[in-house]
Amino acid sequence: MEDSDDFLRLILDSIAENIAVIDEGGGIRFVNHSWSQFGSDNACSITQDWSKMNYLSVCDSAALAGDEFGMLAGNGIKSVIDQKEAYFNLEYPCHSNNEQRWFIMRVSPFELNKERFFVISHQDVTERKLAEKAVEKLARRDGLTNIYNRRAFDEILSEQWQQCLTLKQPISLAVIDLDHFKLLNDTYGHQIGDDCLIAVSALLKNFARRTGDVCARYGGEEFAVIWSYTTLLEALVLSKALLEEIRQLKIPNERSPIAPYMTASIGLVEMTPNRILETRDLIAQADDLLYQAKESGRNKVSSLIVVPSSAVENQN
Ligand code: GH3
Ligand code: MG
Ligand code: MG
Repeated sequence: MEDSDDFLRLILDSIAENIAVIDEGGGIRFVNHSWSQFGSDNACSITQDWSKMNYLSVCDSAALAGDEFGMLAGNGIKSVIDQKEAYFNLEYPCHSNNEQRWFIMRVSPFELNKERFFVISHQDVTERKLAEKAVEKLARRDGLTNIYNRRAFDEILSEQWQQCLTLKQPISLAVIDLDHFKLLNDTYGHQIGDDCLIAVSALLKNFARRTGDVCARYGGEEFAVIWSYTTLLEALVLSKALLEEIRQLKIPNERSPIAPYMTASIGLVEMTPNRILETRDLIAQADDLLYQAKESGRNKVSSLIVVPSSAVENQN
């Protein structure tokens, strides 16, 4: 029996997962080598022998000190002890100053000689988490220009809208569409067209530098900039400067009836979010204004402030 205990302990000590076994009162009955090592590597406040500790008390003290993981872990373990849950899993971050790490804690019960025990394991899932984050980041970026795509734009606009609603601040949205871009593609080829989209995206980034500013490729040759906490007056200055910088790129579009180089048009709207308005009203309004800018000659900004009871219009 001695031999088989040693044999099992050696196995448990050889695995990378941090494993502890607690009893129904939370008392730690066993920890493997990885568990003890993790505590000392991470300068755990607990320097005593783990086998004399009560893990539920450790969680409770952490929770009292404001540690959210301590609270969630403690509640989860208790729910398995009280048989409210068969198992408990919790993914949590555990970052240090120079390293980001994530773990999964699992709690599963077993019974031996009519006594109930609970295996608590902590597994390092950092590699998987970093891969997930990289995929998440990629999914929010436009493949050609590397700025945010439509999906990310929609999410960020909702967040910024909510912020401006809470803070009773205005939000301005510019929808930017390149003029006669089909002609540019047809004249110089799709590859040159792609290069133009990349160049415009690089410019846009310079116009979305403050907190709450975001630029995105909205689709095709259409872009959008969100300027949160920004009035139409300020956004109009930025929009006009943006159109000028696009013109200054002097990208040839010799068959364009507007100018022999690339130009763009902008639909710009300012709203102060309220309980009636929605983000889709902001987008629809900016789209309407873009249409007006195109209809009235392109290479310009059409703008509007939407106020709750009336609207103030502007043509530039
Ligand atoms: P308007 O001034 O009315 O906006 O005219 P336009 O020619 O820009 O608009 P239209 O909608 O007729 O054509 C848009 C063009 O944008 C056609 C399409 O091939 C091109 N386009 C869309 N996405 C891409 C892309 O990723 N790369 C390239 N090179 N062209 C694209
Ligand atoms: Mg266009
Ligand atoms: Mg378009």
